[in-house]
Formats: sequence, structure tokens, C-alpha cells
Amino acid sequence: MTECTLCGRLVLGLTGHDWTALPWMLAPGTGVLPGPCHVRCLQELGAARSWAAAVDAYHRRRWPRWLAGLDAGVGWRLHSSRAARRFHLWRSDGGLASFPYAALAVTPVRTGTDLAEAGTAHAAALLTAMGTDRPGIEVPLPRMIERLRLTDRYPFAEGTVTLRRGILVADHPLALTRSCLLAAGRLAAEAADMYRSPDEE
Ligand SMILES: [Zn+2]
Repeated sequence: MTECTLCGRLVLGLTGHDWTALPWMLAPGTGVLPGPCHVRCLQELGAARSWAAAVDAYHRRRWPRWLAGLDAGVGWRLHSSRAARRFHLWRSDGGLASFPYAALAVTPVRTGTDLAEAGTAHAAALLTAMGTDRPGIEVPLPRMIERLRLTDRYPFAEGTVTLRRGILVADHPLALTRSCLLAAGRLAAEAADMYRSPDEE
């Protein structure tokens, strides 16, 4: 089972809602321990901003191509990994997310998160909450979350959860601001141009 180091409850591992804090990511004095946690718990503890600041330099160094913005007091940078065709969103409020370029193909932008592998205790708990262990059946994600009594950790979660080829997969929208979406479009187009003219890289 994957439990939050801060509240002790189940962590689903949803993109944008959860994070695994590594030892080097921890700002001293925040009371955050290494391990999986709800971003909501980081925010309630008042540690989300210092935690985001602690991983700030890593993002800049690891993915040096980015576009930045400020929405409703929250600073963000959308980093582009051309090699992996992925975005890495850094936000000053701790709402970090990693998702593929391919997520832009549908509106609203959504992504798939692998939650658990069938056969584990974690998967068993999720399947019980889903109310079915039949492959291919889409169950509303908010319903599963409600049955796990985690609605207060994932209040904005939408989407579905499905058992596919032995993996429990959540398909859910990404809460991106309009300006962040525009940045994503620009970065993906730029990467496509590079691919067409590799000499310029
Ligand atoms: Zn928690």
C-alpha cells in the first residue's frame, strides 16, 4: 500500500495531485519526510511553497528549455523535454506534474496515470472501491475516490479508472491554466520544428 507520509492515508499517485518527495527535495524545518504524499497535505502543512522552491533548481538544470508565467499569484514554468516528448510543470504552490506532449491531442487536456498493478494489496483496495474487477469497465474516478474517503485530498479530480491488461489506469483531465496551455502548444510546435530541421539543433 502507498500511504501519505503526512496524513497516513492512501496516495493514488495522480499526476498533479501527488508527489514522491526524495531526501534532497526537502526543505529543512518543514516537517516533510521522504516518501509519497498528497500535494494537498503539503499545502495544508504550509510546506508546499518551500518544497517547490527546493526542487526549483533541479527543474531548471534538468530541463533547460521552458516557458514561464504567473496565474493568480502562482508562478509556473513549463519545461520541455524534447528527447522524451514530455512536459514537466513546476508550480510555486507545489502542483507539479509531468505529462507527455501527446496529452495535448485532446481537449480538455487529459492524461493517463498507472495507479497499481493487479495482484498487489494496493490494487485490491482500489478494485474494492471501484466495485468491479472486470477488465475494460470504466468507473468514475470521483466515485472510487469517495469510497476510499479521499475526496478531501482530491477535490477536483474527474475522469475514469479502468483495469487494462492487469494495470489500473486513471484517465483524468490536467488542470492547466490557459496561458500554460498556450505555452505547451508553443513548446510542442518548437520541438516538431527541430525534428524537421535537426541541423539547427
Ligand atoms: Zn496526505
